[in-house]
Amino acid sequence: MGLSLLLCSMLATPAFARWKPTQQALGAVNRGKLVHPSKLHNSRGVKLRFPRNSWGTRRMVDLIQQCAKVVRKRHRGAHRLLVGDLSRKRGGRLKPHAGHQNGREADIGFYMRRGKPLGGLWRVGAAQIDAKRTLTLIGCFVSSGELMNIFLDRSLQPPLVKEARKRGWSKRRIKSTFSWPRGRRSRVGWVQHRGGHWNHMHVRLKCARHERRCVTRVASRRRAKRRSRRHRHRVARRR
Ligand SMILES: [Zn+2]
Repeated sequence: MGLSLLLCSMLATPAFARWKPTQQALGAVNRGKLVHPSKLHNSRGVKLRFPRNSWGTRRMVDLIQQCAKVVRKRHRGAHRLLVGDLSRKRGGRLKPHAGHQNGREADIGFYMRRGKPLGGLWRVGAAQIDAKRTLTLIGCFVSSGELMNIFLDRSLQPPLVKEARKRGWSKRRIKSTFSWPRGRRSRVGWVQHRGGHWNHMHVRLKCARHERRCVTRVASRRRAKRRSRRHRHRVARRR
């Protein structure tokens, strides 16, 4: 009797409810909402730039923490990973972005060679990036099976490709990971060029299978494109 009562009370707790795969991302990344949001917190591996906008799906939040941990384990002395916007608590429009509306997108900083994170998501050159740690991070996102794409300016991809070669990645793996040296318009590879992504990586996850009301496709592309062009300029100014 006592045991069944205990079990009943356990099942009724919110902690248990969170164990079930819950529908969190509604709609598209550029026209969507977030329900039952999960919060990304500052930790030993993660430093938040905008704590108010650090809400996402559980998979997004867990993935960022886990991959930051993987980097720390593999490379001693890695600094904390600087994370910019995810989504607002209930999702929806988050200025100045077109996307970031349903917890499936995050702006992620780079590991820096100087050994500490920048104060913000600032523009960096290829020579400033710590290619080893940043490649481990990207590899972790790709191998998760949750990733849809990472957007990263093509000027920052060569040192990562070079590091991948050094590490003995097969040609095939490198090709399927990076769009470089293909052209700017190439949509092949997990890591693709999108102009202006020289101050952060934009990580986008797939819809989870159980999220029936999540939409993979970006909504009304033409309008979204115009918005994101404006977004890039404003992000550059803000940071
Ligand atoms: Zn972004």
